[in-house]
Amino acid sequence: MTELTSLTLAEARDGLQAKKFSAAELAAAHVAAIEKARALNAYVLETPERAADMAKAADARIAKGEAGPLDGIPLAVKDMFCTAGVRTTACSHILDNFVPTYESTVTSQLWRDGAVLLGKTNNDEFAMGSSNETSYFGNVISPWRRKGSNTPLTPGGSSGGSAAAVAAHLCLGATGTDTGGSIRQPAAFTGTVGIKPTYGRVSRWGIVAFASSLDQAGPFAKTVRDAAILLRSMAGHDPKDTTCADLPVPDYEAAIGKSVKGLRIGVPKEYRLDGMPAEIEALWEQGKAWLKAAGAELVDISLPHTKYALPAYYIVAPAEASSNLARYDGVRYGLRAEGRDITGMYEATRAAGFGAEVRRRVMIGTYVLSAGYYDAYYLRAQKLRTLIKRDFEEAFKAGVHAMLTPATPSAAFGLGEKVGADPIEMYLNDVFTVTVNMAGLPGIAVPAGLDAQGLPLGLQLIGRPFDEETLFALGQVIEQAAGRFTPAIWW
Ligand code: GLN
Repeated sequence: MTELTSLTLAEARDGLQAKKFSAAELAAAHVAAIEKARALNAYVLETPERAADMAKAADARIAKGEAGPLDGIPLAVKDMFCTAGVRTTACSHILDNFVPTYESTVTSQLWRDGAVLLGKTNNDEFAMGSSNETSYFGNVISPWRRKGSNTPLTPGGSSGGSAAAVAAHLCLGATGTDTGGSIRQPAAFTGTVGIKPTYGRVSRWGIVAFASSLDQAGPFAKTVRDAAILLRSMAGHDPKDTTCADLPVPDYEAAIGKSVKGLRIGVPKEYRLDGMPAEIEALWEQGKAWLKAAGAELVDISLPHTKYALPAYYIVAPAEASSNLARYDGVRYGLRAEGRDITGMYEATRAAGFGAEVRRRVMIGTYVLSAGYYDAYYLRAQKLRTLIKRDFEEAFKAGVHAMLTPATPSAAFGLGEKVGADPIEMYLNDVFTVTVNMAGLPGIAVPAGLDAQGLPLGLQLIGRPFDEETLFALGQVIEQAAGRFTPAIWW
C-alpha cells in the first residue's frame, strides 16, 4: 500500500473519485509512512485516530457522490495553526499543552472541503528562524542528504516540518506560514513547491501571530498543480480578519497549462549578489531560458531599494512580534512559572517559556519601538518599506507581469552550521524572500534542479497583487522543464 504515498494530490483525488482506493486506505498508508519516518522529526503531533475518522467520513461522502474538492486528501498542518481539540504550540515551551477551542479559518476551510488531518508539523519557535533549529521540539532532519554523506541537513525554516513531510511523502500537502520566507525557503531546500499568497488573500484568523503585517499562510505541495488546488481551498474572504480581502477566489487549477506567451518577466539586477554560488547563477539563467522557450519575454529591471529589505524587515518583524507576544504572560495560555508576585510570575514565565531567538526578537522589537528610538529605527524602517513596495509597483506599471529570481542564496546547509554567535548568518537566508513580504506580493518557489551535491535548488516567481494565477502558469512551465525531485529513502 505504500505506493499510495507517492501519488500527487491531484492523482490521489482522481483515484478516490474513480474508487481505485479508499480515503481510509490513503490515510492508513500515510499514517504508516509517518511512523517509519519519526527520525525526521517532521511531526510534533500525530493524529492517526482523527485521520481515520475523517477518512471514513470522506469515504461516505464520496460513496454518496457528495465529495468536496479535497475529499479524503491527507494533509499536515504547521503547528502555527490553531486546531480545535488538537494541541497547538507554535513549537514553543510557553504554549505547553495548549489545546485551542477553535479552528483557524484556513484549516476549517480545508476540512470543509473534505481534507483529512494527519498531524501537526514542526517549525521554528513562533516561526522565527530559517532552519527549524529554534523549535522547542528539536530539529527537523531533512529527508535530503548530500551525495555520499550522512551529514544531517536542515529542511529550511520556519515551516521545516511541513516541507520535510511533503518531500518525504508523509502527506499529500501541508500548510505553512510565511512572514519573511518561511514557505518559499524550505520549499526550495526540499524540492517542494511553496507559495506565499498576496497579503490579504488568505485569512490569518486562528494562526498564531508573529508579525501581523507580514504573516500570510500558504500551501506546500509536490507539484504546482497541487499547490493551486490547495490554495483555492485556503483562500477567501473572512470577516474575522479585517486585513483579508473581499475578492472572489479564482479556480487556480485552471491556470495550470495556460500559455505564458507574451508575458513580460522582470529579472531584477539587485538579486545578483556578490559571492553567490555559480550554481545559483546558472539555475537562474536556466530558468530564464525555460520561460523564454515558452514564449515569455525576459526584461532586465531594477528594484533599487532591495538592499534595505533585510535590515528593515529585521526591525519591522521583531517590533510586531514584541507586541504580539506580550499576550503570553502565564495567565491565559500554556506555561506558568511561579513568582513572588504577579510581576515575578510574568517574568519567570516568559524567561522559562521563550527560547533564545524569541527573546532576542522581543528585546530588539521592544527597543526599536521605545520612545527614544522609535523615529530612528521603526519609523525609518516603515519608510523603507514604502520605497521597497514602490520599486515593485513601478516595475509592474512599466508592464512587467511577474519577476524571476533565485529562491535562496544557497542550497540547504548542515544542522548547526549557521547557529553561532552571529544571527545575521541565518538572517541572510531570507535575502530574496523578505522583499516580497515587505511589499505584500505573492511569491512562489518552484524546484528547478539539483546542485553538484545532489541537493534541490528553487527559483522564485514574484507576481502582481492577487495575481497568483500567473505564478501558477509560470511555475508549471518551470516544473515541466525541470522535472520533479524526490529524496532517496534512508530513514
Ligand atoms: N526567517 C525569517 C525570520 O526568521 C522568516 C520567518 C518566517 O517567514 N516566518 O524571521
